[in-house]
Amino acid sequence: MTGTRAAAPVLWFTGLSGSGKSTIAVRVREALAGRGTEVEYIDGDALREVFPTTGFTREEREEHLRRTGYMASRLAAHGVTVVASFVSPYRASREFIRRLCPGFVEIYVATPLDECERRDVKGLYARARRGEIRYFTGIDDPYESPEHPELTLDTRELSVDQCVDAVLARVGGRS
Ligand code: ADP
Repeated sequence: MTGTRAAAPVLWFTGLSGSGKSTIAVRVREALAGRGTEVEYIDGDALREVFPTTGFTREEREEHLRRTGYMASRLAAHGVTVVASFVSPYRASREFIRRLCPGFVEIYVATPLDECERRDVKGLYARARRGEIRYFTGIDDPYESPEHPELTLDTRELSVDQCVDAVLARVGGRS
């Protein structure tokens, strides 16, 4: 990093599959880009497509997040706001990223499992219940909810617009 510019925010969305992370994150990215903010969106599923051998054991998930967190910290150090959507189920991984990123904002998309499963956007819960997918967070793999997130969003109670506005308020401004 050069100069004394403060690190940009890293808006880190964590929560179960189908909780609403990417729906809200994409809208936040659009709103920030629309006001001329330099912003990069990174998404767990998209990264896994590029690195298809990334698995879902605890070790593999943590490694995936350490790499991602490092990349996010470098972008933020150069003034690029990072919007990241990752299940990121382990507290230790999220705390690792928090330590790397001075502008870390942990956004817990706290939609409960039964609602995520009811939505089943990608049909993954049904497959996990049938045993076709192993290590599926919330079914046969843990999710450690944040203890002190900067923001908690329950999408049963808040509309997408309300969630987006709550996030933007954290970085100063509204959509
Ligand atoms: P994730 O990225 O966490 O896996 P998605 O964003 O892909 O979740 O899916 C969330 C689903 O929930 C979408 O179908 C979205 O339309 C729906 N949804 C309903 N209400 C909300 C809300 N308030 N915020 C975000 N998503 C919502």
